[in-house]
Amino acid sequence: MTAALIDGKALGAALRARVAEDVRQLKESRGITPGLAVVLVGDDPASEIYVRNKEKAVAEAGMASFPHHLPANTSQDELLALIGRLNADAAVHGILVQLPLPETMDAGTVLMAVDPRKDVDGFHPVNAGLLASGRPGLAPCTPLGCMRLIQEVESQPEGLNAVVVGRSNIVGKPVAQLLLAANCTVTIAHSRTRDLPDVCARADILVAAVGRPQMIKGSWIKDGAIVIDVGINRIARPGGQSGLTGDVEFDAAKERARAITPVPGGVGPMTIACLMANTLKAAKER
Ligand code: NDP
Repeated sequence: MTAALIDGKALGAALRARVAEDVRQLKESRGITPGLAVVLVGDDPASEIYVRNKEKAVAEAGMASFPHHLPANTSQDELLALIGRLNADAAVHGILVQLPLPETMDAGTVLMAVDPRKDVDGFHPVNAGLLASGRPGLAPCTPLGCMRLIQEVESQPEGLNAVVVGRSNIVGKPVAQLLLAANCTVTIAHSRTRDLPDVCARADILVAAVGRPQMIKGSWIKDGAIVIDVGINRIARPGGQSGLTGDVEFDAAKERARAITPVPGGVGPMTIACLMANTLKAAKER
């Protein structure tokens, strides 16, 4: 079997277009323009690219953008004061603090300061708790994107065996919660998991969120599985150039899977689209 490619670029663009249309209607019917504040501290080149892409998507969706690019020597108190002002600003419906923060700051403290109703990244413990208890809230964008990609292939994943490799708070755990909410039978694997190939081989749905280039081998993939590759790893290519690759050995995996996401062009574009959808949701709920 050669897998169908799950085109995150096209699906993300379609979702963003739907969000833009909803934004237009919200402006027209209620005079509300959803607004997103993106806070960047320091000059990490990768973060600068992510933030630029997010701000571009905000503009394209017809939302209001509130960029705050702060120098690397900003103190945590100054950042917390800014977040306090954004929490109180009625024109700001979503607040995103780009990670990683400088080492002088405690990311947990900073993320806790964001009003959970404006926490469009879904990282606040209140939103994590709402997700874990199956109640409505703002779920993290990458896991939401993974679910949309899975449901594009299998609209009713109920009863399927889902294996999530990775247990971070921002990807692995929330993906697992969302799969559980969709009535999958969920296994979470991590660096201490014994016999990972065997665990992966049982997956009807495999989500790889590890951050190790091509660690998940094609031979571990169950025939007909849906494979969602969250990993983004920069690798050297012949000729001295660098490129991106996922956590899954794509060429071999696609010979066994039923559907698979490419890297780049899979989960990444869905993450930004879901950020737009979360900002719209936060604006509608205020
Ligand atoms: P973390 O580093 O926070 O978590 C990695 C997880 O992988 C951990 O739970 C770790 O286990 C597990 N792990 C590490 N080594 C192994 C191993 N040998 N076998 C099994 N499990 C292992 O990463 P993130 O969750 O933040 O991100 C994961 C990947 O997803 C990265 O490549 C990141 O760049 C990418 N990413 C992509 C996004 C997108 O929009 N496409 C958004 C966010 C992330 P343990 O807990 O035991 O240490």
